[in-house]
Amino acid sequence: MRLVAVAVPVPFLDLLTYNVPDRLELPAIGARVRVPLGSRTLTGCVIEHGASIDAGTDAKDIVEVLDHEAFLPATVVALARWVAEYYVAGVGDAIAVAMPPGAARRASSYKTQRIVSITAHGLGSDPSDEGTQGAESPRHRGLTPKQSQAIEALAAAPAGLPMSALRERGITADVVSRLVKHGLATIRDEADERDPFERSALATVAADPDRQLTPEQVAALDALSARADAAEFRVALLHGVTGSGKTEIYLRLADRVCRTGRQVLLMVPEIALTPSVAALFRAAFGTRVAIQHSALSDGERHDQWQRIRRGDIDIVVGTRSAVFAPLPRVGLIIVDEEHDTSYKQEESPRYHGRDVAIVRGSLEGALVVLGSATPSLESFQNAAIGKYDLVSLERRVLDRPMAAVRIVNMRDEYATEGPDVVISRELVTAIEERLTREEQVLVLLNRRGYSTAVFCRQCGDSFECPNCSVSLTVHRARNGWKARCHYCNYSTDVPKSCRKCAAPYLEQTGFGTEKVEQHLRDRFPSARIGRVDRDSVRRKGALTSLLSKFAAGELDVLVGTQMIAKGHDFPRVTLVGVISADVGLGLADFRAGERTFQLLTQVAGRAGRGERKGEAIVQTLYPEHYSIQLACQQDYAAFFEREFAYRKGMRYPPLVALINIVVRGKSLGDAMHAGAEVVRRLDGVIAHAGMMTLGPAPAPLGRLRGEHRVQVFIKGTRRAEMRQAVKAVLAEMPELRRKVTVDVDPLSVL
Ligand code: ADP
Ligand code: ZN
Repeated sequence: MRLVAVAVPVPFLDLLTYNVPDRLELPAIGARVRVPLGSRTLTGCVIEHGASIDAGTDAKDIVEVLDHEAFLPATVVALARWVAEYYVAGVGDAIAVAMPPGAARRASSYKTQRIVSITAHGLGSDPSDEGTQGAESPRHRGLTPKQSQAIEALAAAPAGLPMSALRERGITADVVSRLVKHGLATIRDEADERDPFERSALATVAADPDRQLTPEQVAALDALSARADAAEFRVALLHGVTGSGKTEIYLRLADRVCRTGRQVLLMVPEIALTPSVAALFRAAFGTRVAIQHSALSDGERHDQWQRIRRGDIDIVVGTRSAVFAPLPRVGLIIVDEEHDTSYKQEESPRYHGRDVAIVRGSLEGALVVLGSATPSLESFQNAAIGKYDLVSLERRVLDRPMAAVRIVNMRDEYATEGPDVVISRELVTAIEERLTREEQVLVLLNRRGYSTAVFCRQCGDSFECPNCSVSLTVHRARNGWKARCHYCNYSTDVPKSCRKCAAPYLEQTGFGTEKVEQHLRDRFPSARIGRVDRDSVRRKGALTSLLSKFAAGELDVLVGTQMIAKGHDFPRVTLVGVISADVGLGLADFRAGERTFQLLTQVAGRAGRGERKGEAIVQTLYPEHYSIQLACQQDYAAFFEREFAYRKGMRYPPLVALINIVVRGKSLGDAMHAGAEVVRRLDGVIAHAGMMTLGPAPAPLGRLRGEHRVQVFIKGTRRAEMRQAVKAVLAEMPELRRKVTVDVDPLSVL
């Protein structure tokens, strides 16, 4: 028998062993194959050949080999295997992330394009005619070579391919219409938004190759260039204060590496929120750069994937999943804003894009550059112990000063102005000044909605989500007030009187971005004000349009959540107001202090990036908290020291490794019972010091989408053994697999 191990995109499944019948060639590692699984036939990916596979004699035959060569490059296959192993996920889940886009997406329309997709009949996996089919798919019978070729291409793209992509392969509309007639394919017209960077004012920025670098930039670029030239695996942390010109360094380093015939991967937290970086790369490298952003249709992404795979692309700019881009010879990986939490995927496989990038760097022998003004504790610690090189930029370009930060103690403000104050007198005055001088203002509040709670003044009943243990957030809708759950999207009208005691004394408390926007409009009626949060940018293109309007000076004030704090470069912003610096501090999460520090430092860093001096005003109830104090002083080193000591005292990462296991149940009792069983078995496996289990305990978010949640933690220094213990316990309790979420190196433990 010729055995191969195949990953299929089915949750929780490990590698499956199949036999390659004599009539088929032996597929390459990374090639796609059609394999039977239960009553279905699925497309999987070959991960391993012969030798080390446990030779089950009952291995079923592969039905078909779809690729003559590797579809996924070997390093990407290896990377996906590492992800599955390290994050305790199914290898099929991990391979699915590395494959070109599958899921169909709805988009609003600028123009439409014709999408052709294969039918179940065309795939040969229609359950209704299963029995008659046997193992062999009938779909190539009686088809012309062109038709078969089209079917093959379509089978690889479950969401369909644009007609233009098929035409590129020499498949005409005529061929397609015959397939449709046979019931093997269907055609639909899909909305397709044009590249937002082509419409956006932000695309007008141009890289200036003749620009004189500052001495600090020169030194940093020299250090990194030497590393890149060595063409071997190394990680460097580029720690540069906001406005120190990191992007310029990325551009020149990327250019240098491309010239040696190797490719560059630039990872950003979110394309739309880091437009300056993406647009600069597009401007500098033109069509040699592929930008993977959410406005691309699946068809376009698929085409881009093929171009990358063929080696037609030198630079890929993308978000976390771009770490699996099929670039053949990667020489440089840049992870911009490496501390950003959006690098972590919060569904299986729960990987961290930065950490996977480092593993990819080691597989490729590439230089990995992690850039940030506020590095994660993990990365800075690695630099401190010499595992990473540390390259620093301590000053802003052209000796522009950092923004001066003023703290407003809101306790004093409430005492004199009453409890309903949202915008302090100091902040009002400062905004007024900017409006008169025609400068711009950013106002941050990391909480969306109008009010954050509703309660009855008579009986004290509060308005909670029926499915989750959180209070509902009030939003202003066209036809009145709506209360919405930010976790499960449950939504209801806000009644006039209490549901419990019928008293008409319902009161709204707390405030979010919508109320701040309202207060600003009331206070500054002639100012042009925009709001950026997940609610205001739901419509496709809305975010890019708001940001470019602000960049073009068509708005004076932009209110928003952390979305406005990221890497934007708006030179006319001279004031940043933080409405409540305390939003994240109350969370029962050991990273709360770090998040607050990062957010405040980043948002203060948005002020004074142009010629005029910048200022930030931070409103808080805890002016003495170290995260707030040190962010205002923009003192990363002091913050690191303080936070590190706290993590050490509490035995939290990065001093130990952490695995979080969430067990869900119909009742709290069920979940606790199952959690206790997990702990009992874990304790049976990990019997030595250096590792410990904690829990089960109800999670801070005790109920979510109707299920109760309890947590179990494993802390320790021996990661591999910790993972093995979890795997062993899950293998013993297969009935639990669907009720348990394993999060290795969790970023949030709510
Ligand atoms: P960071 O990412 O470190 O916050 P940026 O790369 O966005 O900083 O640079 C901040 C601003 O300084 C940008 O407007 C950029 O165009 C400008 N800049 C960068 N390098 C130089 C330089 N050597 N001379 C003048 N301006 C520069
Ligand atoms: Zn809910």
